[in-house]
Amino acid sequence: MPQQPLAQVPDDVQWFWQDHAACREADPLLFFHPQNERGSSRIRRDREAKLVCAACPVRMECADYAVRAREPYGVWGGLSEEDREHIYARLDSRHYPRGKGDGLRAAGGDYIEAVSPRALGIA
Ligand code: SF4
Repeated sequence: MPQQPLAQVPDDVQWFWQDHAACREADPLLFFHPQNERGSSRIRRDREAKLVCAACPVRMECADYAVRAREPYGVWGGLSEEDREHIYARLDSRHYPRGKGDGLRAAGGDYIEAVSPRALGIA
């Protein structure tokens, strides 16, 4: 089965939303796991990053980009690497979402669940 190459930046990508990103002042290490991070440490760090994303005004643009680009690393738009892997696994690589908005549509309920109170550990 053909594989979508990793982190393919879509042709129509725009970056203006990054000017409004809530993570601009945050520690980047919160969003990208250190090598060999596992278990509860990783869950805690991902949740802290997701809390920043949950209050971010450009969360949808960010999540849409990350799914379309198939970003392999980090928390983007409230979606952790595991969240995106779950989404990628059910997508047909022959019709991979590349157009603006298609990433969010493909993420569907996974996008809402990613920053739900349960996922953030506050439910
Ligand atoms: S959604 Fe999260 S990762 Fe994306 S710009 Fe906002 S704070 Fe940063």
